[in-house]
Amino acid sequence: MSTTNTGFRPDDYLLHSRISELEQEVLELKERVKVNDNFLNIAAHEVKTPVTVLKAYSQMLLMQFAKDGQQKYVPTVEKMSGQLDKIVHMIADLLDTARFSSDSLYCLMNDVDLNQSVSSCFENVKAAHPSYNVSCQLTPGNPIVSGDRERLEQVIDNFINNAIKYSPSNKIINIKSEVLNDEFKVTVTDNGNGIPTEKQSHIFEQFYRVDDDSVQKLPGLGLGLFICSEIIKKHHGNIGVNSEVGKGSSFWFSLPVKPNRNL
Ligand code: ADP
Repeated sequence: MSTTNTGFRPDDYLLHSRISELEQEVLELKERVKVNDNFLNIAAHEVKTPVTVLKAYSQMLLMQFAKDGQQKYVPTVEKMSGQLDKIVHMIADLLDTARFSSDSLYCLMNDVDLNQSVSSCFENVKAAHPSYNVSCQLTPGNPIVSGDRERLEQVIDNFINNAIKYSPSNKIINIKSEVLNDEFKVTVTDNGNGIPTEKQSHIFEQFYRVDDDSVQKLPGLGLGLFICSEIIKKHHGNIGVNSEVGKGSSFWFSLPVKPNRNL
């Protein structure tokens, strides 16, 4: 009796059909992620308009009360306005995340004087949080990087806002810019809660928040650092954190300095 050797054994057929099944599952999962992202995008857009209108009304109320001398209502409206700011911020994060998923977040690259951006973020945080002791050191000169100024300021603001949020008792924060090996580096250091070593590699992931009571009771979606890391990736830069529990954290990013064409 002669046998024909086809080169396929029963195990190969099983493996082949399992691979096809897995490929099908991956396709279905991708489709589900797409539907979720679309939902996120539509929901965030729908909520954005009424919240923006509410924010405008709260500003009008504040002005009206100030004009009429009705100071007793001002703190309540200010609190309302502060909460609305948080919602506006969360909606912006959700929209950015949806844009990253659909690869439609664009960075408009220009020459950026990052010292100027760091200074402006510093002035803003000092005005918004007078109870914090915020200092700033700038590298000499005005090194230029190639980037999207607004997006880079978004990263600096995010680092600063996190430093404030996660340092409820020790309110000393430092912002520093320096040039190291032709890289412009921005670092925001706080003396707050710190992050356990084993959790540090996860904090740039989408929706990740450290599972600690001190973090969970604070507002947040776990999207800010994910967005920062995506922005820095788009700039071909590096981003990272050094942190110790109970001592504080230093968040940093670095980008190549553009060569000075006048030299
Ligand atoms: P969110 O602040 O909305 O939770 P982020 O993506 O900005 O989201 O941060 C992710 C997590 O990283 C936070 O939930 C927190 O656990 C941790 N984290 C970020 N910044 C700091 C900081 N300066 N100090 C301590 N923990 C921080």
